[in-house]
Amino acid sequence: MQGSLDYSGSRPATMVKSKQTRVNVLLISTYEMGRQPFGLASPAAWLRDGGHQVTCLDLAVSPFPRAVAAQAEMIAFHLPMHTATRMAIAVLPQIQALNPNAKLVAYGLYAPINKKLLTESGVHTVLGAEFEADLAALADGVVPYGRLVKLNFKIPDRTGLPSLSRYAKLQIAGESRPVGYTEASRGCKHLCRHCPVVPVYQGQFRVVQSDVVLGDVRQQVAAGARHITFGDPDFFNGPTHARRIIEQLHREFPQLTYDVTIKVQHLLQNRELLPVLAATGCLFVTSAVESLDDSVLQKLEKHHTRADFLEVVKLCRSAGLTFVPTFIAFTPWTTLTSYRDLLKTLAEEGLDASIAPVQLALRLLIPEGSRMLELSDVLDTVDHFDSQALVYRWRHRDPEVDALSSRLLKLVDKLQKGNATRQEIFATVWQEASGAAPPEVYTLMPRATVPYLDEPWYC
Ligand code: SF4
Repeated sequence: MQGSLDYSGSRPATMVKSKQTRVNVLLISTYEMGRQPFGLASPAAWLRDGGHQVTCLDLAVSPFPRAVAAQAEMIAFHLPMHTATRMAIAVLPQIQALNPNAKLVAYGLYAPINKKLLTESGVHTVLGAEFEADLAALADGVVPYGRLVKLNFKIPDRTGLPSLSRYAKLQIAGESRPVGYTEASRGCKHLCRHCPVVPVYQGQFRVVQSDVVLGDVRQQVAAGARHITFGDPDFFNGPTHARRIIEQLHREFPQLTYDVTIKVQHLLQNRELLPVLAATGCLFVTSAVESLDDSVLQKLEKHHTRADFLEVVKLCRSAGLTFVPTFIAFTPWTTLTSYRDLLKTLAEEGLDASIAPVQLALRLLIPEGSRMLELSDVLDTVDHFDSQALVYRWRHRDPEVDALSSRLLKLVDKLQKGNATRQEIFATVWQEASGAAPPEVYTLMPRATVPYLDEPWYC
């Protein structure tokens, strides 16, 4: 490959370089939360349509193929989330030593916000979250758009990826089922202060054409998927689009189940769609509740309240949907009292088995570009940017709160590795936070069996 790819992704798209011939491209995923990487399959379709040779490598489940990496002309890392970015930066020196001539690219949600560090680590081109056309342009020797363009998506090409049996499973009623993953939209029209989607999409979202979504689900069902995770940041950013897709899917695959992520505000605004979700096979709805303290919710600009959360719990229950809240348990405003109140409310609402245990221990992450840095009371707690961890380190004013969060993180990890049940972990966390076991009125409450994916959720 001629040396024509050494530019950042910020120059205009009009400057056309010489058309390249077939380029040997290696697409690498380091971690996609236990899913077969959509972020490799989607650009693979574009690159192969352009005549390029593509190898997809998922380092989460496959060994590092030295020979393939040594021969690639362009090596591109998908960075959809924080952990994946850290892992990619750790693997970069090995790639550079093996293949110093390869053009190194980083793309995905976490690439633009970490552009400086990625560039310092040797990455030549940093692309954004709408990356398919830009990657294809790079391989063609054309300057990429480097901005949020509206794409006519292609059905992801999953050829060569490890089988679905290698990834997270749905656990339901004592059975383990293969899970597929797709996206019906990208970005988000909201501007929640703590959210990593916001610095990149800035209130915009993109619909993925229905035929592309359905085509991707069909091929994963053919490959054995019995459940689909829709990875849209918020499935109800476009509720009409969402409804069309799930109704069509249910007509074609009446046994297929799925899960989605929807914010509390959208669940309330579209409450008439909750029975539609349940009737079309939705098993659970994940929702970034983040806090049960109204003053914290205001700081995070979540546009919901504690009362809204309680209403949504009831609405989902009466629709027959499992509600799976996620939280930022430890923020600069968390107190020992508010943390205990979180546990008590979850127990009262019968959510101790629905919540993934790691959610009880997560601490606010402040990556580069986070809107959290707009708040003076957050800035007061911030120490320095940790270029290994890719976050701003912050310290709670009350050292006891920080000590509890770090004890809980280790405790939850240890209990999960020991195969403790969610309710056992919840009770142990309660004991650690309160110094006493939870009252029997909670532990003896009957709990429905809750379906869940067996990959703990990290960000
Ligand atoms: S609704 Fe969800 S995806 Fe959208 S900005 Fe808020 S937290 Fe992020």
